[in-house]
Amino acid sequence: MAGYTPILDWIDSQAPRMRRLVREWSDVNSGSHNVAGLATMLHRLRSAWEPLGGDITELSLPDEETIDSVGKIVNTPLGKALQIRKRPDAPLRAFLCIHMDTVYPADSAFQRCELLDDNTLRGPGVADAKGGLAVMLLAVEALERSPWARSIGWEVLINPDEELGSPGSAPLFDEAARRNHLGLLFEPAMGEGDLVSERGGSGSFELIVHGRSAHAGRDPKAGRNAINAMAEMIGELNLLELNGTTPDGVTINVGKVEGGGPVNVVPDLAICRFNVRVKTPQDQSAAGEGILNFFRNNERKRDGIRLEMHGGFHRPPKPLDPQTARLLDHTVACGKELGLSLGHRRSGGVSDGNQLAAAGLPNLDSLGPRGGKIHSPEEYVLLDSLPERAKLTALLLMELASGEIKWPKSIHEGHEGGLE
Ligand SMILES: [Zn+2]
Repeated sequence: MAGYTPILDWIDSQAPRMRRLVREWSDVNSGSHNVAGLATMLHRLRSAWEPLGGDITELSLPDEETIDSVGKIVNTPLGKALQIRKRPDAPLRAFLCIHMDTVYPADSAFQRCELLDDNTLRGPGVADAKGGLAVMLLAVEALERSPWARSIGWEVLINPDEELGSPGSAPLFDEAARRNHLGLLFEPAMGEGDLVSERGGSGSFELIVHGRSAHAGRDPKAGRNAINAMAEMIGELNLLELNGTTPDGVTINVGKVEGGGPVNVVPDLAICRFNVRVKTPQDQSAAGEGILNFFRNNERKRDGIRLEMHGGFHRPPKPLDPQTARLLDHTVACGKELGLSLGHRRSGGVSDGNQLAAAGLPNLDSLGPRGGKIHSPEEYVLLDSLPERAKLTALLLMELASGEIKWPKSIHEGHEGGLE
């Protein structure tokens, strides 16, 4: 521990700078669809990372595809992602990641930071995840100041679309999983600083029901009522959860329905959007199969009705496998050396860590600061947790680099490619 102390002390000396960065970054609106705001953020982040001497790449992402209220596919542009890589040929390589987008759109009323007391900053994205951006930056800066830096390579990804479910950046996680040995993500910590041990998975689906319109009074029999068909199908969807067709760990939530028009017309269109949560990869396969069967049966039995289904499990479950458990143990041990007693728990939420885990990269995804009320106009960060969490990751990186923590330098099985 002793050798690491001067570097960790340096992080403490940077606390005022961390506060300033979080404040400046949070005052820039970077809602997931605010492409101009995201470009400003990208520019600022680029300047912050440039002195570290890695290879910086701005990555354009494909448009986000969504289904609009008349069942058509709509393309929406996304911001660019920022990738920084240093020592990609080092024997041990860490992947570090957090998003620059927030849930607050350009026209949100919540735009600026306010200091509530000496240690509490309220503002859009201060914890989720502008604080995490500062923690990640300082942890890597600290590593680079240490004599062990040359033994470890790192790859940083800052994506602009996490709050949308990473529709454009998802493939980047699969690539990163093939190049690195472990992943560190800087989503906000839970409660008093706890780490997330495992996460369930999530899928979002859109069911589009096409019927046939007709005059409701003159010729109702000529029509096929899309809303009636959809209503019956929603009943079946809910039964899918209740009657045990899907396992215990599965819940289905019909979240939005649209369709119809004047009441004297038999409606020819209805759209139902639903979310499915699963606990394990087995749950996910069972739920996926159940939904597919539900769709096929209805396609077959409904004369004059045409169905379309979009969506899927964009966030697979993130189980606590042995490698992830090891990483968790090492991190808790680093916390102990810093005087922190870190607990860990399961979370019902999802993150990019889900994607990484599914691609085979063991990762911890809640290394960001302590705070709360995220995704609300009351979002806050506890400022003393900024250096605290930066020290946690810096110590973990230094112990990995120095060999004090032995980490297997082989990539998770199931991955091919030029790695030892
Ligand atoms: Zn987040």
